[in-house]
Amino acid sequence: MSNFTPYANQHVLELVAYQPGKPIEETARELGLAPEDIVKLASNENSLGPSPKAVAAMQQAASHSHIYPDGASYTLRSKLAERFGVEFNQTVVGSGSSEIIELLCHSCLHPQAELIAAKHSFSMYPIMCKLFGAKYVEVENKADWSHDLMGMLRAITPQTRLIFITNPTNPVGTMVYQEEMDNFMAQVPEHVIVAFDEAYIDFADIQPDTLKYVKQGKNVILLRTFSKAYGLAGLRAGYGITTPEIADLLNKARTPFNMNHMAQAATVAALDDTEYLAASVAMVNAGKKQFYTAFEKWGIDYIPSHGNFILVKTGRGREVFNACLAKGVILRHMDGYGLPDHIRITIGSTKENTRCLEVLQQVLGV
Ligand SMILES: *Cc1c(COP(=O)(O)O)cnc(C)c1O
Repeated sequence: MSNFTPYANQHVLELVAYQPGKPIEETARELGLAPEDIVKLASNENSLGPSPKAVAAMQQAASHSHIYPDGASYTLRSKLAERFGVEFNQTVVGSGSSEIIELLCHSCLHPQAELIAAKHSFSMYPIMCKLFGAKYVEVENKADWSHDLMGMLRAITPQTRLIFITNPTNPVGTMVYQEEMDNFMAQVPEHVIVAFDEAYIDFADIQPDTLKYVKQGKNVILLRTFSKAYGLAGLRAGYGITTPEIADLLNKARTPFNMNHMAQAATVAALDDTEYLAASVAMVNAGKKQFYTAFEKWGIDYIPSHGNFILVKTGRGREVFNACLAKGVILRHMDGYGLPDHIRITIGSTKENTRCLEVLQQVLGV
């Protein structure tokens, strides 16, 4: 038996790998059901399926798959620059916004550095942070579950390099707003990059202006993804809008062809499909009403959400998750997020939501 582990990067040994939502195929196999009979509301995916315009663009692009993609992602980045009113060299694209999070960590973190995030936010941040041996500093959420920006300010030290503001935040669904952010931004020192992770911003009724901080030349990056409102999670596509200086750092840290050819073609088409985006948001708003009505009737606590998911306090989260899974509905338990009494439900189509509510009602005996 070989034993390489003592020689490995010791920071990696301490990591717990990211736990994705349970795949449909795997669940179907385990339960002996057809994949069509499984409802997955576990990964904040978009039940509309991909935009038909994105699919058509990929079909066209498929026949060029023998050629390396455009390493500069020229068409997509030009489109983003135009849309946000920034220069081309202020845009960064990646294989999901997860990759841009990784590039930020690559560019800023080392074993003496520190990263600050809210206690209840995206589980990718601690994984990436620890990978670089940096210190992960968690700031408790406020009583209303939103980010405590003043607490984050107090947590800044000379070693702090990155702060993540997830807005709206996953898994709780709360937001922080303009005035609070302006106060916060006025006090963040120059040695810190603030990353506004806006994966769910398209679902929010109020969208605070974070772009102005970029335009003011502050050390800020906006992170966006095509995985949620744009329904392209399987493609792995995300982007960042930032200062030319930070974009340049991230550009140096990336691999040469970090956004594949199909993803570039599909995202360019998806950005123009405003009809699809509106349908995504409408589906989620309708689904929210459906869930809230049921939870209120059952007397179950939930956190009103600005994302495409709802955090619900069912008690015994893992047991509820397992019981729903046995009935073919995949949800997400929150053990890994330090919320053992909650489950997170992605808002799906009316039909999926109805099935989920039927199963939950049986499982919870309400
Ligand atoms: C889903 C999600 C992302 C983006 O994921 P990618 O699929 O890698 O683009 C980023 N941040 C948060 C908070 C998310 O929930």
